[in-house]
Amino acid sequence: MTGVPDILWLEEIRKEDIPSVGGKGASLGEMASIGLPVPPAFVVTSQAFRRFLVQTGLEEPLYKILESLNVDDNDALESAAQKAKDLVLQAKMPEDLKSEIGIAYEKLSRTGDIVAARSSATAEDLPDASFAGQQETILNIKGIEHLLKGIHECWASLYGARAIYYRAKQGFDHHSVNIAVVVQQLIPSEKAGVMFTSHPVTGEPFAIIEGSWGLGEAVVSGAVSPDNYVYDRRLERTTDRLISPKMIEIVADGTYGTITRNVEKSRQEQQILSDDEVKRLATYGIVSEEHYGVPQDMEWAIVGDKIYILQSRPITTIKGATGMKKETKAGSADKVVLQGQGASPGIASGPVIIIEDVKDIGKVKEGDIMVTRMTNPDMVPAMRKVAAIVTDEGGMTCHAAIVSRELGTPAVVGTRKATKTLTDGQVITVDGEKGLIYDGVIAQQTPDAGTAKVQIASAPAKIITATSVKVNVSMPEAAQRAAATGADGVGLLRIEHLILGLNKTPNWYIQNHREEEFITELMNGIKVVLDAFPGKPVWVRTLDAPTDEFRNMQGGENEPIEHNPMLGWRGIRRDLQSPAQFRLQIDTFKRLWDLGYDNLGIMFPMVSHPREFIQAKELFRQAGVDVENVDLGIMIEIPASAVLVEDFIKAGIKFASFGTNDLIQYTIAIDRNNENVTDMYWPKHPAVLALIDQAIQACRKGGVEVSICGQAGSEPDMVTWLVEHGITSVSSNIDAIAKIRETVARTEQRIILDAARRPYGC
Ligand code: PEP
Ligand code: MG
Repeated sequence: MTGVPDILWLEEIRKEDIPSVGGKGASLGEMASIGLPVPPAFVVTSQAFRRFLVQTGLEEPLYKILESLNVDDNDALESAAQKAKDLVLQAKMPEDLKSEIGIAYEKLSRTGDIVAARSSATAEDLPDASFAGQQETILNIKGIEHLLKGIHECWASLYGARAIYYRAKQGFDHHSVNIAVVVQQLIPSEKAGVMFTSHPVTGEPFAIIEGSWGLGEAVVSGAVSPDNYVYDRRLERTTDRLISPKMIEIVADGTYGTITRNVEKSRQEQQILSDDEVKRLATYGIVSEEHYGVPQDMEWAIVGDKIYILQSRPITTIKGATGMKKETKAGSADKVVLQGQGASPGIASGPVIIIEDVKDIGKVKEGDIMVTRMTNPDMVPAMRKVAAIVTDEGGMTCHAAIVSRELGTPAVVGTRKATKTLTDGQVITVDGEKGLIYDGVIAQQTPDAGTAKVQIASAPAKIITATSVKVNVSMPEAAQRAAATGADGVGLLRIEHLILGLNKTPNWYIQNHREEEFITELMNGIKVVLDAFPGKPVWVRTLDAPTDEFRNMQGGENEPIEHNPMLGWRGIRRDLQSPAQFRLQIDTFKRLWDLGYDNLGIMFPMVSHPREFIQAKELFRQAGVDVENVDLGIMIEIPASAVLVEDFIKAGIKFASFGTNDLIQYTIAIDRNNENVTDMYWPKHPAVLALIDQAIQACRKGGVEVSICGQAGSEPDMVTWLVEHGITSVSSNIDAIAKIRETVARTEQRIILDAARRPYGC
């Protein structure tokens, strides 16, 4: 052996010690060394594990099980994993090692005898091989016998099917992979969670903190909707907080393990962190980020007024605006296994998880690549966790594309056969810009964080445009990121995701007399966006969910089966025929106006005749809304509404916005979600442009703001055309704002220059 002891205490460990204490152990040691409040711990080193293998004679039999294994044969992989784990679990731990662990545990117990055993694999958390989450962690262990059992289980987890598969695919030799186990005092946290020390997508200096009741596992695993706090590091204060209903908590159970239990009503809606706690957490975050030189993803816990930091590792998702976007190296085209449409930019690698049915989304783990026929709104919780999304169906405007762009998750849609070609566990790389799927992990270049910081500091001043450049938002959690673009307002807030995220249809709330709950949820979600855009218009669209999107929700069993939901009971037509459902929305908006949110405007979708607008406005009036003094407008998504726009103006619309995703499909009869006709989806089809042009001119003449919120509003050449034709505002996706603002400015300047250069008399 190398002379490294079986046990190392945190104080003895530095970040270079990964071979002995694994990634987690090394990081904890380093954190403790810079003064972060890390709970006391010791590590059972990888040398101790190796000694166990040697002394029990397990090395050879284990290697034999793995040496000729075809990891792509799922049955063989599962059975080999089981055999290997059984071997480890049945072997006896050397007595001297047991007693060493016993002595260390006794010492640790002087300040608290409840501990956690956390696997710390020596390949885990390495820069190019994130194995996180594959090995066991056992929380709440009391007593030496239980601890020895926990350590043994951690060791055995080195031979889990997923771990074996990863090692094989990453080219790690099963001989040399080791495991250490961190034994750390368990903090019986009253509240706990995670923190990104900088914005995880844009890299801006906002610390984002999520937390909930009990142990942090509930937040990390996604089992609970945590509170979310945004701390602006420049202003040194909390600038946003979203308080979520925290329905469950994970707590210690007896002397081994944990249980999940319901949170009592009185604590569900309670804000878990005070501004002072947010500030103290963010301060620890800054210390860690400055020490490591890159933004960190941290875990924290609080008991009483004491904060503990449980983990700190680099954020791997920062990209786009900060110049940290990963880029594939050239020359890897031979590994392309599939192609589709690049629907959300960014590159990510990970294991495939195929989702055949929404019921399977529980299987999705952090960092997986979700592969499915087509995403549904009820898959959003899983979409939040994954590293990338790949679908068989859909185009640039399908649900998967819209949500992925907003989440900042790379996505490729319309591959036609991803669910058939890819297999569960297969490691792939998704290039959401080019629409390519590679087999395996493609080498990536990640500029260092220093570059990112310099770029933020030297970002050019905001370009001022005469045409307003607004942003589309679908989820409240994207509001801060959307506002950080400096957009002139929100040109489309789709409320479907707020409602579909509740997993119960509006009708379910009505049937069960729980209208108030529905209103509160909807109001809280919209409020987050309104608060992020003070003084700027936010156009909220009334519900527009096709019946098939409601079907999987509670209450969805009563949804009619439609041959073509796109042409069916959706948008304003459904609301006008379902007064109770429409009323819930109106009451929500009214309460927001009553609270003083004058920046709220309401937009009606799928309007085909002015009488629908008149009827909707009348229902607002009947509900007590001062309809002449609020902004009510329409989406132009059906050719009929483009043709009749003058009549809409006479009916009193305050604004109109082109929903080109639908306008194109209804004008040229191309299903926007059908990958077979994606090539024919043509935003600049002359008929589409003719409809848009005549509607713009009519709106300008009538003094009505005219905008665009479909995907075409995120495409520079379309936006150039629109500005040339007099559109008064555009609303783009978050990721497209910078490019669209520049396009608008250039076009406006060219128009002015052209006019100035025109010879007199022309
Ligand atoms: C549109 O149709 O262009 C639009 C913005 O609405 P959605 O994509 O939600 O149908
Ligand atoms: Mg639409």
